[in-house]
Order: sequence, then structure tokens, then C-alpha cells
Amino acid sequence: MNKTTIEYVLNPDGTPGYNWAIITGCLHPCSKLYCYNTMKASSSLNRFYKKNREKETRELHFAKPSEGLWPYGFDPTYYSYRLEEPMFKKKPATIFVANGGDLFGKWIPNEIINYVLTVIRDCPQHTFILLTKNYGRLYEFEFPDNCWVGFSRNYSAEIHMDGIKAKTKFVSFEPLHYGFSFDSRICENGQTDGYRRVALHGVSWIIIGAESGTRVNKIIPRRDWVMTLVKSAQDKGIPVWMKKNLAPEVFDKSELIQELPGR
Ligand code: SF4
Repeated sequence: MNKTTIEYVLNPDGTPGYNWAIITGCLHPCSKLYCYNTMKASSSLNRFYKKNREKETRELHFAKPSEGLWPYGFDPTYYSYRLEEPMFKKKPATIFVANGGDLFGKWIPNEIINYVLTVIRDCPQHTFILLTKNYGRLYEFEFPDNCWVGFSRNYSAEIHMDGIKAKTKFVSFEPLHYGFSFDSRICENGQTDGYRRVALHGVSWIIIGAESGTRVNKIIPRRDWVMTLVKSAQDKGIPVWMKKNLAPEVFDKSELIQELPGR
């Protein structure tokens, strides 16, 4: 496993955590916007695009150790030979599962997801972060307590995660494209501080961020969209992670709140 640059993936000792590349590639539409271009900048995927682009089939592939990473471009690819990697690490670590892929994409069979969850269960010393765009599938599994299970959204909305069987559940509002705004009418009445609240049910952590990679600054979130989410979380005692890319356009660096859920 390699170290990750995802800023909130931090080991218990505060050092950067790891990416477990058990799956790469993804078929969600956002691949066209962000992942495809950002990941293409990595050398192995770039080599693929130079030589074998026609190999892409939009189906799940099974990689062999000799093929390295991204052997089928941005097609979903499963690396069964990496399954035991977290077990070799004895020191407690925080491990992001499949950056640049989606373990819960509808193209991944339940069997593979269950293999991954079994390894997670067998590594109670580590914390695993699972993030998907395919929210509905999270309801189909029972997650060990050493998982932080989340989905990403790029707008603020009422969130219900109560039915997901996991101890720590989070929403990544990233990249935030639109949201609830400052409501001056309520503010003038003196009833609230002027921010609408977004209902967060069964949520134990939220992450908020802006566009990154090749799309940096394409859409800059408004300060009141972010503050609506922050205040909604704070009202319920939910920790908040504001990503570095919200500064300096939207917030001063010193204003960023960076909290993690308990382990
Ligand atoms: S869901 Fe995640 S991994 Fe898939 S294309 Fe979008 S950003 Fe990339």
C-alpha cells in the first residue's frame, strides 16, 4: 500500500495514511469530469492511454500481478492479489479503500465486497475509509466497527444514514457545487443566526471541499453554502473537516475546521 495524499486520511499518530488499491477505475459519470483527467496524470495510467486505449471495454477486469496498476485504463479493475496487503501492516493505520475507484459501484459483485469486508474485519488495528457515489448499496452490507462508511454529494440536502449498518457514517460534500443559502428573512426576525439548517440523520462526520485536480477553481463554493453545512453539523455535535482547497478563495486558512470522528 502507498501513502495517500488525501488530507483527512491520517494515521492515529498524525502521519499520512494509506491507499489500498484493491479496485481502480470507475464508470460513474463524474469520471469524465474529474477522475479520468486527474488520474490520467499518473504515469502508469498515462502509459496506458498512450499505447492501449482501445482495450477499454467498460467492464470489470481482474488484474494479474505482472500487469501493474491501471492495466485496463479507467475500466473498473479488481486486484485480488492485493487483498491481504492491510494484514501485513501491524502498526495501527488509517487506510482509504480504492482511491480512483468505487468498491460499491454496481459493476462490483457482492462477493468482492464481502472479501474486502472480511479483510477489514480481520484487521481491527486499522481504520478503513470507504467512500462511494452509489449510496443505496451501502444498505446491503453490515460493516465492521473499524470502518468509516460514507458517500459523496456535491450539494447540501437532507441526509438520512440511520439505516446503514455502520458505527461511523459520513458524507463528503465535495466538490460542493450548490447549497442552501443564508436566509436573511429569518435572521431579521431574530429567530436564528440566519443560516438554514440541513437535517443530518445518523451522520457522524462531514467533509466539505471544493473542486480539485484538473478542475480546480472551476466552481467555487459560496461561503454561506459551506457555513450552512458547518452550523448544521455543529448543532448536532458532528465533527467537520473543511478541506484545504476552501482556502484562500472562500475562507482564510485559519478559519478551516479540521476534526475527525472518534475511532
Ligand atoms: S465516483 Fe469517485 S472514483 Fe468514480 S469517477 Fe467519480 S470521483 Fe472518480
